[in-house]
Amino acid sequence: MAQLSPLLKQATPIVVDHGEGVYLYDVDGNRHLDFTAGIGVTSTGHCHPKVVEAAREQVGKLIHGQYTTVMHQPLLELTEKLGDVLPTGLDSLFFANSGSEAVEAALRLSRQATGRPNVIVFQGGFHGRTVAAASMTTSGTRFSAGISPLMAGVHVAPFPYAFHYGWDEQTATKFALRELDYLFATVCAPNETAAFFIEPVLGEGGYVPANTEFMAGLRERADAHGILLVMDEIQTGFGRTGKFWGHEHFDVHPDIVLIAKGLASGFPLSGIAASKELMAKALPGSQGGTYGGNAVSCAAAVATLGVIQDEGLVENAAERGRQLLEGARLIGDKTPGIGDVRGLGLLVGSEFTKPDGEADPATAAAAQKTAAATGLLLLTCGAYMNVVRMVPPLVVNAEQIEDALRIWADVVATVTGS
Ligand code: PMP
Repeated sequence: MAQLSPLLKQATPIVVDHGEGVYLYDVDGNRHLDFTAGIGVTSTGHCHPKVVEAAREQVGKLIHGQYTTVMHQPLLELTEKLGDVLPTGLDSLFFANSGSEAVEAALRLSRQATGRPNVIVFQGGFHGRTVAAASMTTSGTRFSAGISPLMAGVHVAPFPYAFHYGWDEQTATKFALRELDYLFATVCAPNETAAFFIEPVLGEGGYVPANTEFMAGLRERADAHGILLVMDEIQTGFGRTGKFWGHEHFDVHPDIVLIAKGLASGFPLSGIAASKELMAKALPGSQGGTYGGNAVSCAAAVATLGVIQDEGLVENAAERGRQLLEGARLIGDKTPGIGDVRGLGLLVGSEFTKPDGEADPATAAAAQKTAAATGLLLLTCGAYMNVVRMVPPLVVNAEQIEDALRIWADVVATVTGS
């Protein structure tokens, strides 16, 4: 009998039967409050009726209309609709299936368009598991261990992760920008740098928001040296942070935006957006793929965009996000074992630390497991896996946030003995 690879671990022992909105139901009929949303994917909730209807209808019409052979309606419609929400000037799209593929597409575009070999990524960033994307990932060595040689041409600069450094935000930001300039001066010349790749909020790296001053510093250096600013909005896009794009919080204009996850409510779909002029600088034939822009995924994405707009999900993420962050902070403030609680919109992380400030992954893992056993699904993240993250669907309501916070308060009290 075949079985799944022993390396594929689940955060919970749950076998799911079906999902509805913010809840997952297991095969024994138990209900679970899902504050993982399939790692920030099911933004419209599990099986939103409008997404289900759009996908069902599309399955009966056309499942796969391979997009380098023929064009299909859902892809054209999605492209047009994304035009209404993308940052000004980013009017040209390429679609793929996974976040990692979008990262690689942006890497190819950046190198080909600039003719430069290097990219700079920021400490704690997660960009994927394919070899190029893993080479650009610094949120944990587990993503690149044992697969070296990694892709060359990747350099790493600090992210303004104030709590990690034990500084205030301003000091951490000044340090990060100074180190970036030092990197330029010592190992990675600006005129050999194709792009910066950055997440507006570190996701896998521990739910750490960037800030306006830091982004302005990147934009300034990008403009001064002809470097492209690539915004990895794979986890932060489509309303997740309480604005449509995470980078909007920081008043910065990117050259390339990467999209996936929340885009299609769980159907595999990713993409990159750039200006037509920039896209045209890449080499012919460098964009394509068998499954990219799948017809059912695109139909689901069109429906997702409609639901986000019709149900005011960006505003809901902002309001419910404030409620969740405030509640989690109150719990964190009362708990010596939680060193920091932070986030943006419906991305909220609680970082577990020992009395001496060291990371405490054991208590974070115990909290995640205890929460799951009590009906609240959560995940851990961070370089040391000591951050418990909450990332509920954007349709979450005030009562469900209260339910989650009530469970979380009990869980934290139990595992920290406070
Ligand atoms: N970038 C970011 C910011 C992500 O959060 C992820 C997935 N967690 C990826 C890239 C990679 O996406 P995928 O797993 O679909 O390849």
